Amino acid sequence: MPLALVLTVGILGLIFGSFLNVCIHRLPRRESLNWPPSHCTACQRRLAWFENVPVVAWLALRGRCRTCGVAISPIYPIVELTTAVVFAGGVMVYGLTPILFVRLAFACALIVLFVIDLQHRILPNVITLPGIGAGFVASLFLPPGWLSSLIGILAGGGVLFGIAEVYYRTRGQEGLGMGDVKMLAMIGAFLGWPLMLLTLVLASFAGSLVGVTLLATGRGTMQAALPFGTFLALGALVSAVTGDVMLAWYLSFY
Ligand SMILES: [Zn+2]
Repeated sequence: MPLALVLTVGILGLIFGSFLNVCIHRLPRRESLNWPPSHCTACQRRLAWFENVPVVAWLALRGRCRTCGVAISPIYPIVELTTAVVFAGGVMVYGLTPILFVRLAFACALIVLFVIDLQHRILPNVITLPGIGAGFVASLFLPPGWLSSLIGILAGGGVLFGIAEVYYRTRGQEGLGMGDVKMLAMIGAFLGWPLMLLTLVLASFAGSLVGVTLLATGRGTMQAALPFGTFLALGALVSAVTGDVMLAWYLSFY
């Protein structure tokens, strides 16, 4: 894999990451993605072109607006860097193949859902529903194939819907939202049902680990809902890259 290709795709990732930041900020507020142009959310001043340069601008401005001095969240450069790493890593894992483009689009959706769920405890339909459709259409031509994708959608949505129903009826409160249900259906659409199940196991394990840690350190209660979508996003990224190896290893015991 030529280094120049990895670097180019990584820089492309920075630019995409900058767009993902726009989605992360505006989608939960139901704002338009293309209007108004990038501006300081405190003083509304329109940003100069160089203030839109990913990561570099944030570092050069030391994380503050030039005019009003308001702090600019480090989430912005973190999202840009993460997207760059995911893009560069993606081209190393998949090469310049059709599946690369599908997996990168999937990763972009996961990054946006991860941050929005963390900040707002919602998983917007405007990402998950088209995501289910896009994952299924891509699977007509590429792995995991349409049947695995379809089972992934139905089982992914179905399993979480069932858990949510049982939790609601027994505890009398909402533990899982319908956003989680649609997000796991989207993951099933892109990765197929075996990796969807692996994602669910990884996310539940990571979620319990963090939950128990918060409980043990007295920083959270059992009732404080953890954003399950953030764990699903992490689980799906891990499954997409290492899932086939993990499943083969697991099945080798039978
Ligand atoms: Zn400002």
